[in-house]
Amino acid sequence: ETQKETLGFQTEVKQLLNLMIHSLYSNKEIFLRELISNASDASEKLRFEALHNDALYEGDPELAIRIEYDKDAKTVTIEDRGIGMSREDVIENLGTIAKSGTASFLSSLTGDQAKDSQLIGQFGVGFYSAFIVAERVDVYTRRAGVAPTEGVHWSSTGEGDFTIGTIEKANRGTRIVLKLKEGEEEFADGFRLRSLVRKYSDHISIPVQMLKEELPGEDDEDQAEKTPELESVNSATALWTRPKTDLTDEEYQEFYKHISHDFSDALTWSHNKVEGNLEYTSLLYVPENAPYDLWNREAPRGLKLYVQRVFIMDQADQFLPLYLRFIKGVVDSNNLSLNVSREILQKDPNVDKLRSALTKRVLDMLAKLAKKDADKYAKFWNTFGQVMKEGPAEDMGNRDKILKLLRFASTHSGTAEQNVSLEDYVSRMKEGQKKIYYVVADSFNTAKNSPHLEVFRKKGIEVLLLSDRIDEWMMSQLFDFEGHNFQDVTKGELDLGDTESEDEKKKLEEVAKEHEGLVERLNKVLEDRVDSIRITHRLTDSPACLVIGDYDMGLQMRRIMEAAGQ
Ligand code: ADP
Ligand code: MG
Repeated sequence: ETQKETLGFQTEVKQLLNLMIHSLYSNKEIFLRELISNASDASEKLRFEALHNDALYEGDPELAIRIEYDKDAKTVTIEDRGIGMSREDVIENLGTIAKSGTASFLSSLTGDQAKDSQLIGQFGVGFYSAFIVAERVDVYTRRAGVAPTEGVHWSSTGEGDFTIGTIEKANRGTRIVLKLKEGEEEFADGFRLRSLVRKYSDHISIPVQMLKEELPGEDDEDQAEKTPELESVNSATALWTRPKTDLTDEEYQEFYKHISHDFSDALTWSHNKVEGNLEYTSLLYVPENAPYDLWNREAPRGLKLYVQRVFIMDQADQFLPLYLRFIKGVVDSNNLSLNVSREILQKDPNVDKLRSALTKRVLDMLAKLAKKDADKYAKFWNTFGQVMKEGPAEDMGNRDKILKLLRFASTHSGTAEQNVSLEDYVSRMKEGQKKIYYVVADSFNTAKNSPHLEVFRKKGIEVLLLSDRIDEWMMSQLFDFEGHNFQDVTKGELDLGDTESEDEKKKLEEVAKEHEGLVERLNKVLEDRVDSIRITHRLTDSPACLVIGDYDMGLQMRRIMEAAGQ
């Protein structure tokens, strides 16, 4: 080994390693899934790069992943024939965390094991999970296509630093050797490893091989003379190409974890195979938890793109609109060329067709979830509802579908929970009511206690209570739902449609006449401060309230603008 040096981990890595080892201990077996997942990614990357440069195969297109163990030495080895890493790659990938938002993610960890394991899972544990069970990790790797003398050896005990040196490595790809900690010897076992591969990595499309083993007690006289044979432990077919009826929920969930780098289960998914003009298979998942960077609009997002089953790229963000950025999944199309790049994708008309087809798939999946599992839908709405509210403005074409997915708090239940759909609202509309009434405020309580609601309460007319930051902006983008206009109850003349009887209208007129003098005087006194003063039946208990013009900016918006110094 030459050019050997010792380097320190980036501070964030040290912190993550520490926290991870403790909070994920009860899930320690996932290290194998993570390492196989990486081996599979590396193999698919090689296959993709080799489309343009066959020499990367170095005459050997075999891509199988191999797992070995040594009970006496207490080691487990995972080896792939993938793209491999250069010295720079190793330092970058195994010594730092490049994700944006890492610092804020780390500071959100609480020390509470259950909560932290959840968060760390969403962040993606990856390679470093090896240190949950290993006291030392050795990585031997060589980038495909470079000379055998340019191999790299990385070694670390997962504390403050690692060593890196140059070695000779005949085969391209990566071999990772875990020296198990005291007490973790159970993993140096054929039966255990096989069952973990089947449990977590069955869907990996590259074969995961192990040496065949004779079961103890099975007598075989020639055993000593046989050279051990390799066998595939997983089924090694891309999961999405298999028929739905063949697949169990567990398999779908494991596949989800592989592609999303998430740690918890998905909430629901939709698997579709479409033939004809536009040919594609898609498998789209709704996560259960929001990623730590949901509010960073620059955060990586998008689907894993395959063309004719060959992996092309991660985070292909052209296939879904921004308001569906939380969706994870795979799209495999026969309509795109194997030579696609991000630039080409931007111009390919098939991408637009796929995007609109996949967007519909997601919206239909959500509608179905809302229909058949109210609890899960409520969970979805609480996690991603605010993102969905960007939808009506971003995606006019699907506005009706999106509107049906929205959920609101309302005076019907009077609780802060957002569980009223517009369809619910419309079904409860009063005889003669034409509009959908809503109020927007800074908080649910302010909305609920708004004096503008008094007359609605009296008449038993439901009002939507909006208090999310995005609400006023969203409502300003909406006109109607199924022919019913939206009406902010704080704006303009109150029009209660035909819910008012002739009697009531008459009465109001009389009262107005009676107090003409008072109104005139008030208008004079407050001339500089308000537009006008009028008699109203809006109120039943409060003596007066402020109303803003139909086309004026709403109160929430004003406050946001004021806060921004406008
Ligand atoms: P992730 O897989 O989410 O990117 P990991 O922590 O699992 O994160 O891996 C970090 C990076 O290290 C990978 O993105 C990849 O670049 C590199 N890497 C890990 N394992 C391998 C491997 N077997 N072959 C090539 N590169 C690898
Ligand atoms: Mg990984």
